[in-house]
Amino acid sequence: MSDAKALVDALFAGDSLPEEKLAFLLGMSDPDSVDYLHSKANELKHRLIGNKVYLRGLVEFSNVCSCDCLYCGIRKSNDSVHRYTMSVDEVLAGASQALDADFGSVVLQSGERSDENFVDLVEKMILAIKNKYPDCGITISCGEESLDVYRRWHDAGAERYLLRIETTNQKLFQDIHDAKSLYSKRLQALHDLQEAGFITGSGVMIALPGQTLSDLARDLIFFRDMDLDMIGMGPFIPHPATPLGASFKDDDSSRRQRVILSLNMIALARLLLRDVNIASTTALQTLDPSRGIVSGILAGANVIMPNVGEKTLRKDYLLYAGKPVSDIDAKQAKAKLTELLAAAGEEIAVGTPGHPAHYLRRIRQ
Ligand code: SAH
Repeated sequence: MSDAKALVDALFAGDSLPEEKLAFLLGMSDPDSVDYLHSKANELKHRLIGNKVYLRGLVEFSNVCSCDCLYCGIRKSNDSVHRYTMSVDEVLAGASQALDADFGSVVLQSGERSDENFVDLVEKMILAIKNKYPDCGITISCGEESLDVYRRWHDAGAERYLLRIETTNQKLFQDIHDAKSLYSKRLQALHDLQEAGFITGSGVMIALPGQTLSDLARDLIFFRDMDLDMIGMGPFIPHPATPLGASFKDDDSSRRQRVILSLNMIALARLLLRDVNIASTTALQTLDPSRGIVSGILAGANVIMPNVGEKTLRKDYLLYAGKPVSDIDAKQAKAKLTELLAAAGEEIAVGTPGHPAHYLRRIRQ
């Protein structure tokens, strides 16, 4: 414990640590060390950005996808998925629900498509939301596109973009994606997002088959070296109709380990990246339905993304098994989270686009 404590204190003070030490901290599971890591990360969050949690209304507007990622339930070759794409009006209805409930911002997420109809549709969604709510924040999460497309969506009014690198282990990246998904292209897309002026976020899946603690330590160093503004990460969860999910052993002990590892990743991301936005994700909640979301916040995360899309379609955006399909609206989600967070000493930020402090600091420099 005293070794671990000294390392956590060094990170807290702003020192950097080599990959092996980060890997050591990631692998901790004894309750005292883990509590210390999480509480110092949360203390740093309070010191740098306060105890306000940002809500983003998540609209999963289409599950049509041209990719065949080996882990993902809505991969192109999963024939049993009922495919849908929402209209601009349907997206605006979901977004309005969140923004009328003072969330301050929305996330538009979908499967990946790069045809002109799709690019145009997303542009219209952004314009419609910004026309009605000029001061809201909009995050897009639609995968790899060209620099031109990123520029169009940014010009239309979206400020933030989430594109996970999934893993920085290039061999593992190729193993879990179809042949047309290239690590080099994913990396280029992240640079293009920054070039297009987006507040850029990325992240990884945690505890992928074959992934090591050193891989995850290198992921953290990558986030820092890329000077990212936002991080979204969650545990890998198998989906039975996917190549990676079919053979994965998903028992209680593996779930517990994946939850601890995910919380350790959040805490270390906070200590290393300081004032970025970090999401407490649905995947974490899936593995620990009663406490997952709040545990993420108490380990240093500061963003939660309740689903505000059309209720009848939520069950069709099944990225992994057991993904909770909530049937509550934005107002109810806010009331529930307000209560849960109050018990943890945190509050919901009201009516702000919720840009990361890291970004605001960067543009002032
Ligand atoms: N098409 C968009 C959005 C993808 S879904 C894009 O490519 O960015 C959002 C995230 O869900 C993915 O980046 C991936 O990290 C995560 N995800 C997909 N399948 C998962 C699984 N089986 N377990 C955990 N996370 C998964």
